[in-house]
Amino acid sequence: MTATLPPALPFLPFSRPTIDEDTIAMVGEVLRSGWLTNGGPKVAAFEAQLSSYFGGRPVRCFNSGTCTMEIALRVAGIGAGDEVITTPISWVATANVILEVGATPVFADIDPVTRNIDLDKLEAAITPRTRAIIPVFLAGLPVDMDRLYEIAARHQLRVVEDAAQAFGSSWRGQRIGAIGDMVSFSFQVNKNLTTGEGGCLVLNNLEEAALAEKYRLQGVTRSGVDDIDVDVLGGKYNMTDIAAAIGLGQMNTIAAVTAHRALLARHYFDCFGADFEANSGAQLPQAAFETSNWHLFQILLPDQGPGTRASFMRRLKEQFNVGTGFHYAAIHLFTLYRQRGFHEGMFPEAERVGRLTVTLPLFYEMTLADVERAVAAVKAVLAQPAVAA
Ligand SMILES: *Cc1c(COP(=O)(O)O)cnc(C)c1O
Repeated sequence: MTATLPPALPFLPFSRPTIDEDTIAMVGEVLRSGWLTNGGPKVAAFEAQLSSYFGGRPVRCFNSGTCTMEIALRVAGIGAGDEVITTPISWVATANVILEVGATPVFADIDPVTRNIDLDKLEAAITPRTRAIIPVFLAGLPVDMDRLYEIAARHQLRVVEDAAQAFGSSWRGQRIGAIGDMVSFSFQVNKNLTTGEGGCLVLNNLEEAALAEKYRLQGVTRSGVDDIDVDVLGGKYNMTDIAAAIGLGQMNTIAAVTAHRALLARHYFDCFGADFEANSGAQLPQAAFETSNWHLFQILLPDQGPGTRASFMRRLKEQFNVGTGFHYAAIHLFTLYRQRGFHEGMFPEAERVGRLTVTLPLFYEMTLADVERAVAAVKAVLAQPAVAA
């Protein structure tokens, strides 16, 4: 008699969106309504709901989190000759938008515990040309907001918060987005709240919001019945009513999503246990349950030389059918940035995290048993001898 293999467990991805039936019905309504985009009722309703979520501050929606940050820089008047300081550990969009407006990206290394920009190093990187800071709240973990805004005020710098991952995160009991200067969110499909693709910007006043609207749609201002003028160079960055309908549906579940993500994160810590770091040489994330929305659960692998992460990711997938991601490779080592003079050794903490960070599965429809499965798989692979990727 031949031994029967146990049934293969279904693939566990690191992220998966949840779109409920109410949302699907609302999208269907939009499609039947005949009004799919420009100035539609769903975008207006979504912006109004986001504004009340963020304490009444003006909010404008766009078609990506990337253009949202670019527009924030333009609204702040950042351009050629200006330096903007950011972190090397982010999605490359964060630095690309600085180049996009003609300014100069300046990196400051990360804090190895939070993996966010090190605020001491940020302050040391300020020069007379520095005009703005783009802090990134990696995995949904805010930086020390008191210290950030104290530095910004002392040096008269604008702040564009890259809160792409931080929808539902908070600082001292206040929502990220409800406080601060300009705050940019992404609604890309992996984010805690998605519109498929999209983003929103929280602004300080209606003048900034009006300017953001112009940059959003070709610089156009309309008045009267047929009056139209263009006085700034804008692009095509508006959100569709289809996307806004998805966003409105997601707003109904965001509280439950955020709570469930925290539950899963807690279970990750419980399952890894207090001796995991000492036994494996891996490093868990900061247990920031007061502030984080647990957008990502990331561990740092023990360094086993080149190919450490590729080998780990491959074995986790092949042996356990568990998916992972990596967020992110250090931006300054990309060719585009090397061509601008950046090189290895400049930001050692970012380079280490960029090589060794792995994102484990964490999404709304995951169960506690899925967490247990992921942790068992991680422990098993880490216990195996190192093999070449
Ligand atoms: C997702 C993300 C972006 C870009 O957002 P898009 O909506 O994909 O353009 C920027 N920064 C960070 C940190 C992100 O996670």
